[in-house]
Amino acid sequence: MSAPLLAVSDLVVSYPLGSALGFGRGRTFDAVKGVSFTIEPGQGFALVGESGSGKSTIGRAILGLVPVASGSIVFDGADVAAFGKRVPLAYRRQVQVVFQDPRSSLNPRRTVGEQIGQVLQRHFSTGRTETERRVCDLLGKVGLGAYFVDRFPGELSGGQRQRVAIARALATEPRLLICDEPVSALDVSTQSQVLNLLASLRIELGLAYLFISHDLAVVRQVADVVAVMQRGRIVEVGTSDTLYEAPADPYTRLLLSSVPQPSPLGREERRAARRALRAAPA
Ligand code: ADP
Ligand code: MG
Repeated sequence: MSAPLLAVSDLVVSYPLGSALGFGRGRTFDAVKGVSFTIEPGQGFALVGESGSGKSTIGRAILGLVPVASGSIVFDGADVAAFGKRVPLAYRRQVQVVFQDPRSSLNPRRTVGEQIGQVLQRHFSTGRTETERRVCDLLGKVGLGAYFVDRFPGELSGGQRQRVAIARALATEPRLLICDEPVSALDVSTQSQVLNLLASLRIELGLAYLFISHDLAVVRQVADVVAVMQRGRIVEVGTSDTLYEAPADPYTRLLLSSVPQPSPLGREERRAARRALRAAPA
């Protein structure tokens, strides 16, 4: 049996509690309370759950952006928790991220070509001609023509900006792509186009995804396995098909009931579920 690409075991991530004035200093809040899962090479793995359930915190821990309080994160044999603040370039090359809002992740003062080119030069020290060729190639992969090389992010639509963010993430030839709410800022028709793109890129490039979303409907297109999170814990894991057809956990049923699609619950139950979701703490 081959080893998983990523193995997360009993992961706990804590944030310091307390105000700027220092009250409550030393106390911490566990945003992730002992989470375990593995991602195989090329697998689409989704974390789904309401806002505040700890999904992004897991993504940040894998990227080395927040410290691991306990437990472990092992990527291709390497102990990510042990990196501390010095995440090796070779690791950053292999694990890339696409965030929800490309307006904040892209530099508004640099052209699309410059931003993707910069990544290529940093990771592969490519020369000018080779960089230009690869930039066009990457833009082509995300469905954007050479016209976009000299555009600034402000000249693009939300969907185009997100495609640029994806192209930039792909520039390093990652093996794992973390997508944190990648379509949440987009309108519904653009959402499905970007999801289709992500789904086909995964197959074309043999990429593994950690796909984070509060929306179960969004996840179905891109994930083989879905883990449902609630308040820092995984409450149910299943293949996307079994989870949609026969959700075991009541919370999963609740989440499914807020998906605007044929639902296992009746109208009255859906209403009650929505009320319960609203009443749940953020
Ligand atoms: P999700 O991505 O599922 O919406 P997050 O991982 O962003 O959830 O947040 C999980 C919990 O951790 C929330 O209660 C949130 O308020 C808290 N949290 C997130 N970031 C920080 C931070 N930098 N400092 C303190 N608490 C945080
Ligand atoms: Mg989040």
